[in-house]
Amino acid sequence: MSDASFPVADFASSRRNVTALAEGPFTLLNGAPLSTTLSVPWERLSRGPTGGRFSTHIGGDDGTPARPLILDSEFEDIAYNDRRCPTDVEKLIGDRKFLAQHAYAVAASTLSLFESTMGRRLAWKCRGHRLALELFEPISYEDSGYDGARGVIRFGHRHDPRARKHVPLALYRDVVTHEVTHAIIDGYRPHLADPDGTFDEHAMHESMADVVAMLSVFSSTERVVEQLQATINTEEGFDGRDDEIVQSGLFGVADGLFSHTDRGRPALRDPQAEAAAPVQSHPALRRIVPEGTPADWRSITEPHQRGTVFSNALMDAVLVLWRTRMDRPGGRSSEFQIGESGAKVGRQVLAMLIRGLGYTPPIDVTFDDLLRGILAADFVVMPDDSLDYRAVVRKSFAPAGISAAADDDLDGLAGLRDLRYPVRLSALASDPEEVYRFLWENPAILRAAAIDPDVSLVVERVRPSLRVAPDGFIVSEIGASFVQQVPMSAHEARNRLGLRTRDPVVLRGGGLIRFNEGGRLSFAALKPVLDSERQQQRLDEAAGPSVIGMAEPEIAARRAAVFGYMHGPTRR
Ligand SMILES: [Zn+2]
Repeated sequence: MSDASFPVADFASSRRNVTALAEGPFTLLNGAPLSTTLSVPWERLSRGPTGGRFSTHIGGDDGTPARPLILDSEFEDIAYNDRRCPTDVEKLIGDRKFLAQHAYAVAASTLSLFESTMGRRLAWKCRGHRLALELFEPISYEDSGYDGARGVIRFGHRHDPRARKHVPLALYRDVVTHEVTHAIIDGYRPHLADPDGTFDEHAMHESMADVVAMLSVFSSTERVVEQLQATINTEEGFDGRDDEIVQSGLFGVADGLFSHTDRGRPALRDPQAEAAAPVQSHPALRRIVPEGTPADWRSITEPHQRGTVFSNALMDAVLVLWRTRMDRPGGRSSEFQIGESGAKVGRQVLAMLIRGLGYTPPIDVTFDDLLRGILAADFVVMPDDSLDYRAVVRKSFAPAGISAAADDDLDGLAGLRDLRYPVRLSALASDPEEVYRFLWENPAILRAAAIDPDVSLVVERVRPSLRVAPDGFIVSEIGASFVQQVPMSAHEARNRLGLRTRDPVVLRGGGLIRFNEGGRLSFAALKPVLDSERQQQRLDEAAGPSVIGMAEPEIAARRAAVFGYMHGPTRR
């Protein structure tokens, strides 16, 4: 193939549409599984399909590997012949090539969403650039999931009364999105899954994975409109029917999803039971509005349940903002108008959440930190918040007692104004040594982070990010994170900080700092290390006994168990 036949100019930014299931194998339209096209980055694909960031692996029923999906010989492996979705449920369930294409498309579009929203490439935590998706494994639902150490997501299959053959879990779009989101977050914020992490951190993993999975589907105008058309009598008009619209739109869209129940088990859907009790039958989503937030949620330690508090608040914001958009002139003029507003809000809130992750501290993150991150990141790209998105988001989190500083104080720079910049901007964007130099030259930051001067701190990463704000301007920033971990005997912890502990401890802390395009500090989220009040709370809330003193294999097992127990009570 000559270079001339290949669209070089468009390659870096161009995308291809790949057919995938809109939700899962049992969401039907006119009797056929409902499919959609997902936009994924254009890349060279080899057997599998295998791209630069994902490979797909499928053992056949008899243990044989699946054949490659690359079909177009003229363009070799640059072009890709999209495979159509089978129109028959049984055929779909048995079509391994479509399964691989679907999983690849969902995974690649999820990673692409994160990368384009955060304005940077995101690496996996495991060594290597490619995450393996094992799509038809002889394992149970509880054992399906992300394994960070191996860089693999394994998906099992199971019997479902609606089909003769076993149904691959990877056919559910939300399951794939959920697991890939775990992998993305684990690569970006590895400490969130520390075995020594807090309940909030483990719950945050679960909550974000769920919200991204739900809103990825709800972000499709086509899908929301389709759902409204299928369930709402449009002849009566839409005024005064907001509750019905919301039930049909947001919750109806989720009906075909696999979604976790509150016990981390699959929602086995029974059409008869659902007809009898339509509102309660989809626990993961439908608990959101009617039940509100339990007052004692901070005592909930199971990550799914605790994570629901965060998901609920965010989905509540989606509903409020959707209604606000409907209230604008002509907002209820057609189901298309309504559906488009809903999907738009879904995309916007999803982007707020993903951007917010980039404004959280690297370690000991709480729900309050994530809320602050969401608001702070939004403030940077949308200083003029004409529709009051930030106020709505704040209000949605208030009943759970999750709060953040006022907009003007979100940057965390009080007391950090007169800083020294004996650094080179080019090096600051890429070199941890340069970031360390900046920190060293500015003791005010080290004091604010209560860094122990006798223990080394580690600048873990430095990355430039380029984002396009909704007004079309490029927001260019540098983000850097540093962490300090101070081991102390129980005696030292009591004497130095007055901590109540009988065990040795590791005091952790550090911060995320961001620089604007002029190389000036524009944001700081700090977690003070030698802060007795914070560390005592941290000790009281730790998700398990400290791993300090444990052998490496034991720590690795504990780390693996974090994702294990995220996925079902059987592993606890
Ligand atoms: Zn999970």
